[in-house]
Amino acid sequence: MSAVRLKKNQDRRLRSGHPRVFSNENEEYAGPDEDGDILDVMDHRGAFLGRGYVNRRSLIALRILTRGRDEIDAAFFAKNFERALAYREGLYPGDDALRVVNAEGDGLPGLIVDRYGDVLALQALTRGIAQRADRLAELAAEVTGARTVYRRGDPTAAAIEGFDDRSGWLVGQATATIEIREGPCLFQVDLEEGQKTGFYLDQRENRALVGSRAAGRRVLDAFAYTGAFAAWALQGGATDVLALDSSGPACARAVAHLARNAPPDAPGRYEVREVNVFDALRALEREGNRFDLIVLDPPPFTRRRAAVDAAMRGYKEINLRAIRCLRPGGLLATFSCSHHVSSALFEDVCRAAVEDVGRTVRIVSRVDQARDHPVLLAVPETRYLTGLVLEALE
Ligand code: SAH
Repeated sequence: MSAVRLKKNQDRRLRSGHPRVFSNENEEYAGPDEDGDILDVMDHRGAFLGRGYVNRRSLIALRILTRGRDEIDAAFFAKNFERALAYREGLYPGDDALRVVNAEGDGLPGLIVDRYGDVLALQALTRGIAQRADRLAELAAEVTGARTVYRRGDPTAAAIEGFDDRSGWLVGQATATIEIREGPCLFQVDLEEGQKTGFYLDQRENRALVGSRAAGRRVLDAFAYTGAFAAWALQGGATDVLALDSSGPACARAVAHLARNAPPDAPGRYEVREVNVFDALRALEREGNRFDLIVLDPPPFTRRRAAVDAAMRGYKEINLRAIRCLRPGGLLATFSCSHHVSSALFEDVCRAAVEDVGRTVRIVSRVDQARDHPVLLAVPETRYLTGLVLEALE
């Protein structure tokens, strides 16, 4: 097996549990390896640190798969899938949609596997995973008992990592739209055309929280995608739900989801609008339109550390408008899913918004991504989703 030797003092991060080697940290490769191949990693003295796959065209030149001397073969991946499944057992009994493998959080950098009923959706985010995708799909189906596996492409990752972006069935074949149950709600997940692998599984616990606080409230679901928060709110007894999203296909599905999930005995009213939330919030504020519960779940405003300041202005703007649109006693469930925005930074920006509005607002809870999206302590960016539930006291 070929090996890579790190420069002096560049082993510290790896030794502290971090699974990445950056391209400026290694000094020599030995061996005729190809990008995606498995390599041993050693410190500058030649002491073994771990084993992973290499990609010299990426800024992240090496990703660690094991700190032992395991063979990286089918048995290795199967063992990791079993561990990932065991971790999730009992997390959400009765629910049939969850994330089975969350990349680095499950020791498998670059690999996402989501389960929707008996279908798996697989995403390869690195070259090392992409070139093994077919075999990994078969193994994941075997370990989980799923009947089919769909690979969902990711053009951004493919361009950065240099692999052929492909979408399509890797194991079996099924319809691309799957019905799932999440708590009291039924949703349709579109594997081919939906965002992410079709559904925002990372918000499942926060949707349940919003559902539990919705009774008797007038609810605004901003950045609604297919209306999953709005559907939970209707199920939770909201009197009125307004869902906003800029995507036409997402809005069309949201209408169907709200029709499907409105409880027949106490149907709340609902409406879906295809709009830009920034404009819509300004208009709602101007019209004096007020709500008892607002959800703000925007897309990542930045994917780059350098653009965090601009992202902060975006977060401040929408949170400020939303707080102005709360009735006294109203709740705001507000989120950021930008990897470079820490919980502390997000709290700062919400504080700045509250200060500008001048209302008394308290923190009801601090929340983050669902537990099937585990976080590595040594890699703070693996906790990408952070949120606050706030209450305007008067
Ligand atoms: N809350 C959703 C997930 C939201 S993802 C859920 O639980 O399923 C973010 C959504 O914001 C996407 O659906 C995207 O279409 C939408 N979006 C992005 N920019 C927007 C904008 N400026 N105005 C309205 N919607 C926007």
